Amino acid sequence: MQSSDRFCTVVSCIDGRIQLPVNRYLQERFGAMYVDTITEAGVNKVIAEQAPETLVESILKKVAISVNAHRSCGMAVVGHHDCAGNPNPPEIQREHILKALEFLRQQYPQMEIIGLWVNENWQVQELDSRVEG
Ligand SMILES: [Zn+2]
Repeated sequence: MQSSDRFCTVVSCIDGRIQLPVNRYLQERFGAMYVDTITEAGVNKVIAEQAPETLVESILKKVAISVNAHRSCGMAVVGHHDCAGNPNPPEIQREHILKALEFLRQQYPQMEIIGLWVNENWQVQELDSRVEG
């Protein structure tokens, strides 16, 4: 059941192939009807490398609107197979997602923030990103 007044937030790629599966996954995962969607090509790489800086700032501004105005209940960072904006192999992209997670968790320590990988069959897989120790 998705609560009709709950929002969550996704920081994702522009790629049209991943939007529906990611939305469906997050509606279920956070029990939220609405998924505020912030997109940038290869966003996991942009945040992991903190470059370009202006883009990172722009992403953070949009995230803040979702979190503050919509009281978003959870957030996800997404990377995916065959990404035009981040054409690195999955292992590197995974590192980018984990770095982006670390950065966003510093900004929003109270919030549950998860990493997602969308594979070659456009299936959504949640990364194990638990902090060791
Ligand atoms: Zn992409």
